Amino acid sequence: MTYHIISIFPESLSSYLDSSLLKRAKEKGLMNVLFYNIRDYTKDKHNKVDDRPYGGGPGMVLSALPILSAVEEAIEKSEKPLVVFFTPHGEQFSNTVADEIKDEYTDVIFICGHYEGVDARVTQILKTKNVSIGPYVLTGGELPALVMIDAITRRISGVLGNDVSVEESRIAPKDPYTRPECFTYKEKEYCVPEVLRSGDHAKIDEFRKEN
Ligand code: SAM
Repeated sequence: MTYHIISIFPESLSSYLDSSLLKRAKEKGLMNVLFYNIRDYTKDKHNKVDDRPYGGGPGMVLSALPILSAVEEAIEKSEKPLVVFFTPHGEQFSNTVADEIKDEYTDVIFICGHYEGVDARVTQILKTKNVSIGPYVLTGGELPALVMIDAITRRISGVLGNDVSVEESRIAPKDPYTRPECFTYKEKEYCVPEVLRSGDHAKIDEFRKEN
């Protein structure tokens, strides 16, 4: 899977993408991320990416043309792309949506809005899939892009180790424990539930299902 990130702050994403599971997935060649800084697609000498909203109101709106040029370049580099537009008014992202994207596309192009959003003609022209990651308003689409990349990538075959599979296909512990078995905190003792220390895997599975 190749992810294309179209943003005015692409550098803000690197440290997460270069850590942990995503870093390993990239090293194994199971995913790749390409960045497109919207400013690089402006035509004026000040590299202006935004302007005031028609009809008045607070804040600035990201202009359509630089974003359309960046998406065009991303599409040229893609095999079977899906163009995702981030908006708090979009379809709620979920594991089901992640699987559909993973199974149907080779490339995902993320348009990360900022300020008061993006000129509405971008979504009209590109017929984007409009996605929200939850019922709250963030400052930009960069965190939603990371959320989607993480959730989709961990579902790609070969990304998680042999002994780990996606949560729905195993009994994943909701309340995990690790060493030490017992510790004292503020004069009270806290121990790992007895059943998890028993070595009886049938009982452990039963306990995890109940919990
Ligand atoms: N007034 C704008 C609106 O109602 O759409 C809010 C814009 S928000 C401050 C800036 C950008 O952050 C949005 O254009 C979108 O790209 C992104 N964003 C904010 N909250 C989001 C959410 N819950 N899901 C997905 N993207 C979100």
